[in-house]
Amino acid sequence: MITGKTALLGIVGHPVEHSLSPAMHNAALTELGLNWAYVPFPVAPEHLKKAVEGFEAIGLRGFNVTIPHKQAILSYLSEISPLAQAVGAVNTVKRTSAGWSGTNTDVEGFIAPLRQQSWLGAVAVILGNGGAARAVVAGCGELGFDEIWVVGRDAGKLSQFAASWSGSKTLPPKTLRTCVWADLKSLLPQASLLVNTTPIGMHPHTDATPLTASELDQTQTALVYDLIYTPRPTQLLHQAQQRGLSIQDGLEMLVQQGAAALTWWTERTAPTATMRQAALRWLDAD
Ligand code: NAP
Repeated sequence: MITGKTALLGIVGHPVEHSLSPAMHNAALTELGLNWAYVPFPVAPEHLKKAVEGFEAIGLRGFNVTIPHKQAILSYLSEISPLAQAVGAVNTVKRTSAGWSGTNTDVEGFIAPLRQQSWLGAVAVILGNGGAARAVVAGCGELGFDEIWVVGRDAGKLSQFAASWSGSKTLPPKTLRTCVWADLKSLLPQASLLVNTTPIGMHPHTDATPLTASELDQTQTALVYDLIYTPRPTQLLHQAQQRGLSIQDGLEMLVQQGAAALTWWTERTAPTATMRQAALRWLDAD
């Protein structure tokens, strides 16, 4: 029940009406027995500054940041974690005595399902060079991949992407490499991990897939990881499974980035099973 003592958390994005985060976080806060509530805040890009000032005025404890604000929010923070600086994006903000402090829990969310095995010296192939690909590159760096290939459709964007990591403390030199889609086929046989960070195959375009059947036939030992979680599985994961490859969808990343954020805000261990159940219920109902 919301009372005069309820502490507030939230998510700022545009749009936010389809976000699973309020369902996940409110279920977790209830489970923890905390008098806190998590609220969606739809904020257009031109109002982000005013919204952050308003959050300070009303004493918000912290908030998540989603599309299109993950880069723009950096201007309104007094502290940015080294990881968020390396990624160039913030998805979680907390009120501290110094002001707003920002970090990026997408990296932790992405690597959580990959921690059971060693990836030292392995090759990762990442489809797409947008915002999520940056968290995936940082995550692959942390897991010790030897080569991290980023595949894009625009050579100019790919060289900007590569340049933005040069001198990064997160990645050893020469780990990050880029190529255009036309050159992807020759890379696939070496990939131990293949990650789709493009929106290809996401609801409502559920028949679409970023790889042709013959490209997928080139992958042999890969775990195929799709950041998309609607539908589950995507066409890419369905076809990978049919070829006997291991698969991972994006729901666990979403749950784990939320759990990491909640633990940071509340200083309590997040109940991940409750958050996962709430996310699944929300997806079933939507
Ligand atoms: P984004 O910044 O817009 O990046 C999308 C990337 O996909 C860009 O590199 C874009 O290429 C590429 N792309 C889009 N359509 C393409 C096409 N038809 N052919 C080839 N490349 C194409 O988006 P994002 O924030 O990275 O998100 C990407 C996906 O990850 C979304 O589906 C999102 O839901 C998912 N995601 C999931 C989680 C999770 O927790 N599971 C977290 C974050 C994101 P150009 O740069 O050339 O346009």
